[in-house]
Amino acid sequence: MYVRQCIESGYVSSAGPFVGRFEDAFAQVVGAPHAVACASGTAALHVALQLSGEQPPRMVAVSTFTFIASANAATYTGAQLLLVDSEPDTWNMNTQMLRDHTVRSARMGKRIPDVIEVVHVLGHPADMEPLWELRDRFGITIVEDAAESLGAGWKSGTLAGQHTGTAGQMGCFSFNGNKIVTSGGGGMIVTADADLAAKARHLTTQAKKPGEVYVHDAVGYNYRLTNLAAALGLAQLERLPQRLRSKRAIAAAYNALLGDLPITLPPRAPWATPSHWLYTVLLRKRFESDELVAAMAANGIQMRRVWAPLHRQPPYRKTEILGGGEVADDLYWRGVSLPSSAHLDAAQQNEVCEAFRQTVLASTRRR
Ligand SMILES: *Cc1c(COP(=O)(O)O)cnc(C)c1O
Repeated sequence: MYVRQCIESGYVSSAGPFVGRFEDAFAQVVGAPHAVACASGTAALHVALQLSGEQPPRMVAVSTFTFIASANAATYTGAQLLLVDSEPDTWNMNTQMLRDHTVRSARMGKRIPDVIEVVHVLGHPADMEPLWELRDRFGITIVEDAAESLGAGWKSGTLAGQHTGTAGQMGCFSFNGNKIVTSGGGGMIVTADADLAAKARHLTTQAKKPGEVYVHDAVGYNYRLTNLAAALGLAQLERLPQRLRSKRAIAAAYNALLGDLPITLPPRAPWATPSHWLYTVLLRKRFESDELVAAMAANGIQMRRVWAPLHRQPPYRKTEILGGGEVADDLYWRGVSLPSSAHLDAAQQNEVCEAFRQTVLASTRRR
């Protein structure tokens, strides 16, 4: 409906009302004072990181277990990366380890990150508490990669009741095709800082001076979301509550149907409300994941292994990694995601779980 209005009005590109409407609606959904739409989640992260820390940041700490765009966005700014191993409870960046390491490095006069890019991996909020000390003592800026965590938040602690993306100085979301809300492609920066929001908007629109024609006062980017994509995003955002409800129901059904198998179910910290973006489990042994994905494919069910951690990706193999990366490696070797689309009905969920159960049990019997 919105998309048709948009096409009929002739404003399909960046001028037109839907970008502003999408921004306002999104800000309201996550409880952020300002939202700036971008061409992609990666673009949102690039601009947010460009505007954070030392401007541009010199050293960015990021989880090694994430989609590669988290690291690429930091690399675009010219920053040096510090990869951080995962913690076993939520599979997120080990923030306690990062805190202890940073305090120690500062004491020894070594370089410390000026930005921490926290990813809420697979839609489970990260444990932010250890980061406040780093922010308050060392002035480290916190930017959230909330690309996978629309609908997720914290239930208790200093962030009780808050949505992911609103805990740091800026939070970034993605509307890529595989995300909870999609605009075909797109992203959003949210922040409580009006000045930063204005700067982000400026950078995403070729740093064009408002009110003047072809005057640009910085090296900006063509990162603005189109009106057409915003119309689609706005329509999808209106369906977010239903979509989150079905994601939650699928996770609950899978948990009930698979709970007795020799696998590790998705993390769920008592203080967190996850988005259940992807339902990911850990198999018992590392060699089982490829086998299982192949056996499920033979049943016509598409499963996926999780990302190889950044320290195993060619561009980041030589990057310093805090904690060695063993926890992230273990997630990589044992992790598989089940079909998690909000459109799966109960019969399909049962079918997926039955095939998964037979495959896991057959492989357990073989060994
Ligand atoms: C999808 C994703 C991104 C990138 O978003 P795009 O819109 O695809 O550019 C960044 N970080 C994480 C963790 C993601 O899952």
